[in-house]
Amino acid sequence: MKINSNFDNLVPNYLFAEVAKRTNDYIAKNPDKPVIKMGIGDVTLPLAPVVVEAIKKGADDLSKKETFKGYPDYEGYDFVREAISKYYKSFGADVAANEILVNDGAKSDCANIGDIFSSDNVVLVTDPVYPVYVDSNIMAGRKIVYANATEENGFCAMPPKGVHSDIIYLCSPNNPTGSAYTKEQLLEWVNYANENDAIIIYDCAYESFITDDCPRSIFQIPGARTCAIELCSLSKTAGFTGTRGGYTVIPRDLERDGHNIYNLWYRRLSTKYNGVSWPIQCGIAAVFSEEGLSQIQENINYYRKNAKVITETFDRLGLSYTGGKNSPYVWVKCPNGMGSWEFFDLLLNEVQVIGTPGEGFGECGKGYFRFTSFGSYENTVEAMKRIENLLK
Ligand code: PLP
Repeated sequence: MKINSNFDNLVPNYLFAEVAKRTNDYIAKNPDKPVIKMGIGDVTLPLAPVVVEAIKKGADDLSKKETFKGYPDYEGYDFVREAISKYYKSFGADVAANEILVNDGAKSDCANIGDIFSSDNVVLVTDPVYPVYVDSNIMAGRKIVYANATEENGFCAMPPKGVHSDIIYLCSPNNPTGSAYTKEQLLEWVNYANENDAIIIYDCAYESFITDDCPRSIFQIPGARTCAIELCSLSKTAGFTGTRGGYTVIPRDLERDGHNIYNLWYRRLSTKYNGVSWPIQCGIAAVFSEEGLSQIQENINYYRKNAKVITETFDRLGLSYTGGKNSPYVWVKCPNGMGSWEFFDLLLNEVQVIGTPGEGFGECGKGYFRFTSFGSYENTVEAMKRIENLLK
């Protein structure tokens, strides 16, 4: 018996393990010094009340013979897909309910979508990158090429001239850099994908944090229906990190290599997946109700306020950064030419604040650092006060 030897090509994910190790060692030696964690990508505020009520009612339905539900449809219940389609229409993206597939969060689909594509395809990712895009393709044995996101291009990597690719992962607003593509920039990517007969896997897990006119969906861009699949998550939008819920959009007429992409994905889903539970789908539909959209906005605004505390501190310190405006992430250039880990140790040892070293997200992350706005307001203010006193 042989294992999938592509697993030997994975680089061990030292980043979060190393962050945890250094943090825990410090806490063990300094139990009297409270550490503030601003590296976490998890939310801290509870689900919206209308969502909780819908999930409870859904659970109640399962307790009675008349309303009991068994296996759901693989692609989700129609009323949930209708609610999401209506949401898309609210910002001008024409996505039909029958192009939406409800899922248990974006990570599974973004790692599994590769099942329908040949391992001969060349994958393009932007660097720094959400590690799932890279690792899932290494597991499948695909070649990966990188488009660099740097200070010069505002951390919005653009299509590399003269480089062919078949599968392109874009994330906007971006994790980890917090940058968001404009309509013009996304149009360049859509044109590149159509010219290369490629497919863009567009991850918009943070679309609800956009405050300006950057697109929330790739389907706001002309030409996207012939080259894009979109993945979205309710994890950060509506606090579903533990509840699990998201959706994937595949245009019904999207084709490659003589095959309909929706049908291929549906075939894969029906073989390897049995859908999202009734109570959670009720909760997902509640997110997209008028009341739900208004209630989740309160949490998003709370995190936005934290992001503002962070960016205002960096403005006063004269630090160069992206994000915060359209994203819960703030990506900052380490001061005085410090390396990411050097800055990590400085913040931990001197002011007991934890962030994420940028180099864990790729070569272009070297010398950068990611802060998140998902903590409490009080902790964010305190952490920024400590950093300002240290660096001013
Ligand atoms: N995509 C990006 C860019 C993310 O940052 C995350 C989570 O951090 C996900 C997808 C995964 O989302 P989910 O919790 O829905 O699996």
